[in-house]
Amino acid sequence: MNVFFTFNHTAIHSYLLKYLRNYQRMKHITIKNTDQQIPVGKMVCVGRNYSEHVKELGNKVPEKPVVFLKPNSSLIFSGDKIIYPTFSNEMHHEVELVLLIGKEIKNANPGKAEDAIEAYGVGLDMTLRDLQTKLKEKGHPWTIAKGFDTSAVVSDFISKREYTLTLDEKIILSVNGVKRQDDLLNKMIFSPAEIVEYLSSLMTLNKGDIIFTGTPKGVSKVNKGDKIFAQISGIAELSCEVE
Ligand code: MG
Repeated sequence: MNVFFTFNHTAIHSYLLKYLRNYQRMKHITIKNTDQQIPVGKMVCVGRNYSEHVKELGNKVPEKPVVFLKPNSSLIFSGDKIIYPTFSNEMHHEVELVLLIGKEIKNANPGKAEDAIEAYGVGLDMTLRDLQTKLKEKGHPWTIAKGFDTSAVVSDFISKREYTLTLDEKIILSVNGVKRQDDLLNKMIFSPAEIVEYLSSLMTLNKGDIIFTGTPKGVSKVNKGDKIFAQISGIAELSCEVE
């Protein structure tokens, strides 16, 4: 009896230790004014969601949101460094509204989609434009241009219980104090709920998934040493240096 108990105790202990180590390794979203830390699941991104940005890159306005993924390994937080990859000479900033999903949904209707949005933050979808342009020409996936380490940056998030999004919020990004992107969220082609509804028709969305909703016009190149500041008024801000 004693031996059995000792064995089980050790097994449980090592299981708990393993669980704890894995949990500590996971990346977490901080919800402002709470002690909530939400482990981040998958990161889904929407492209071409502001018509003036679609035009500046010479693309066509899409009938459905353009969808791609970023790996969890690419995620960093405000205050961390964005590292210029050795395989690119043209890294662009893209400032975006980011949604945190609060519950599992699949094939959601508009009401359920809206209800599944838990919190809002501001994020950067850093993009290797030189590589992306070549990949687009070949009809290849954008993964290399969008999934490198430090290519996804997010702020702390604000809970929907605390803040009601009107889409009249300003979204801005400056580099070394000079504004490069300055727009209103209401210029989005697909609204947050429409994006979530559509994505949930393609894949299950889980609690902790985050969704990048596309960037307004004004994307441009960053250089090593640049200081990036991004903000959505009333929601959140972040700052990062490029190294
Ligand atoms: Mg983007």
